Amino acid sequence: MIIDNFGLSTLFELAISGRMRKVIRLHYVNKFTEKEIAEQMGYPESVIVSELIVAEQIIKKELKSKQCDKCGKPFYTSNKKAIVCPKCIEENRKLIQKTKENKKETKQPTTKVKKKKPKSIYEILREKEKYNKVNGTNLSYGDYVLLKGE
Ligand SMILES: [Zn+2]
Repeated sequence: MIIDNFGLSTLFELAISGRMRKVIRLHYVNKFTEKEIAEQMGYPESVIVSELIVAEQIIKKELKSKQCDKCGKPFYTSNKKAIVCPKCIEENRKLIQKTKENKKETKQPTTKVKKKKPKSIYEILREKEKYNKVNGTNLSYGDYVLLKGE
């Protein structure tokens, strides 16, 4: 049984005891099984089961059963305008969050790759002469460019 937040708050209001409220919370919000609730609260499982039976009667009587517009699954709500089940609302919320995060990532400035400024022919000629002097070679401009890959 899926109940949205509107339905849950109505159910809490209608619960006839604090114990029932706690059982409802553990079962419908925390998704505990009857056995787990019994262990947690220290009651026999049969007590929890009967609390949930009463809760279900309240749900069926006081809440509206609707079919989710998105996934088609039935859910209970006290909001006349609710058209989507809580699961689909949660999924939609996650999707929006994801798109927001993706947008943030693309917005971050990408580190610019600094383009090496091409050397002028005179610079290269100067370097070539220096190279020839240092190394005792007699490379031509073309040889030097090939050698250095400039
Ligand atoms: Zn749904």
